[in-house]
Amino acid sequence: MSRLAEVNPYQAYLRDLFHSDDADLSRLQAEAEAEGLPKISIGPEQGKFLQLLVQLTGTRKALEIGVLGGYSGAWIARALPEGGKLIGLELEQKHSDFACMQWKRMGLADRIEVRVGPALDSLPGLAGEAPFDLIFIDADKGNYPAYLDYAVRYSRPGTVILGDNVHMGGSVVDPERQDSEWVQGMRSFARMLSKDERLMSTVVPYSDGLAMAVVK
Ligand code: SAH
Ligand code: MG
Repeated sequence: MSRLAEVNPYQAYLRDLFHSDDADLSRLQAEAEAEGLPKISIGPEQGKFLQLLVQLTGTRKALEIGVLGGYSGAWIARALPEGGKLIGLELEQKHSDFACMQWKRMGLADRIEVRVGPALDSLPGLAGEAPFDLIFIDADKGNYPAYLDYAVRYSRPGTVILGDNVHMGGSVVDPERQDSEWVQGMRSFARMLSKDERLMSTVVPYSDGLAMAVVK
């Protein structure tokens, strides 16, 4: 979303200090754009935040739903310890191929694997990989409630569950947009996160709104 790419001076100042992409991540983003991949990845602030969470929680096994060009996956994978693993679920073969090519170039290929297809088809087959230590949901918003059900099922106490784009560029609170399947999916997801007694949750206002929960 180009709207999200707009950076205000304070954000630019913080990016300079804390969140700038290094050469590999910049190249990934430039090549993704050249390939015509949509510009809807997380921002570097969120990437750094995911990295901090991976370290804080001692994550060894992570799950990402919605890989795109591998930008968020690269941030997560870089923070994994030796022997750590990220499993990505991605609908589009083209996105997966691009991401895997980038990760290979970055020396991350040995710790990431992607399962291509609708995430709801891949998720039942991941039971043997559970529990995950960190789960990042960032795919089609209408299915967020179903992804959250799986995330909780595939968790343990202390697992961190994240969901991107709670704000949806303002749609989530736009009275004119409430009929949209994606808005309804996001609102159900946010309600589930806030009410589920097994979770302690908030939304971090980075970029388009990053929901975050810890399993009690
Ligand atoms: N996490 C990425 C951005 C993901 S964009 C980053 O920040 O770098 C959303 C991705 O979800 C797209 O690549 C899209 O192809 C994928 N997607 C959409 N519907 C999906 C589905 N049903 N199952 C799996 N992936 C899906
Ligand atoms: Mg997103």
